[in-house]
Amino acid sequence: MPSVEVKELSLNFGSVEVLRSLNLEVDHGEFLVLLGPSGCGKSTLLNCIAGLLDVSDGQVFINGKNVTWEQPKDRGIGMVFQSYALYPQMTVEGNLAFGLKNARVPKDEIRKRIARAAEILQIEPLLKRKPAALSGGQRQRVAIGRALVRDVDVFLFDEPLSNLDAKLRSELRIEIKRLHQKLANTMIYVTHDQIEALTLADRIAVMKGGIIQQFDSPKTIYNRPVNRFVAEFIGSPG
Ligand code: ADP
Ligand code: MG
Repeated sequence: MPSVEVKELSLNFGSVEVLRSLNLEVDHGEFLVLLGPSGCGKSTLLNCIAGLLDVSDGQVFINGKNVTWEQPKDRGIGMVFQSYALYPQMTVEGNLAFGLKNARVPKDEIRKRIARAAEILQIEPLLKRKPAALSGGQRQRVAIGRALVRDVDVFLFDEPLSNLDAKLRSELRIEIKRLHQKLANTMIYVTHDQIEALTLADRIAVMKGGIIQQFDSPKTIYNRPVNRFVAEFIGSPG
């Protein structure tokens, strides 16, 4: 059974078809990258999987369960966005604890999970600070930490590094890869950056106009693109 499965998913904004009968299967523990140019529907697809958008047609399954009409909080997923969306008035610790408190997780358990996430992401010295006193890279670590403490099976990332400079981007790329190796959970990662896709992914789904053009390993996509769009987008030789 796949970790995440999308069946014949369509999504329209008014009369505009953004996703068209899209099918996708993500294996347990897989790092899947959704790659494509701006406006091709990557965020829309991710938001449908997260339950932040209602689908027009089709279904979403997580661990074999049809969650198409389930609330985001009941789907067993954690999401990291491009903008950090941290609560400015709370400390880092408060930000990490917030969702857990709402979910009535016991205090001791909250403390344990925060300690573990802080260790993994190397943000222990930042726990008492407020977001304004953090760098962009540190904020993004905290944002990842908020998904991490929820102990979810599936992580969704929407261009988490695109607001960072090149050096931080490559640092955090390595960190996300390490995180995946350590947690071995399913990750679906949206980007328009070919390098990120090629270095992070077990498999890449290349999208254009709400349709998956090719779904393969980075190596196959690079060496054997199925059409000219994929070849040009991924920067294949020849
Ligand atoms: P990507 O993440 O690949 O850049 P999006 O999924 O954000 O693309 O958007 C796909 C298409 O849907 C774009 O043409 C965008 O303008 C349109 N779109 C996205 N959100 C909305 C919305 N809330 N209302 C209307 N159109 C939208
Ligand atoms: Mg987007």
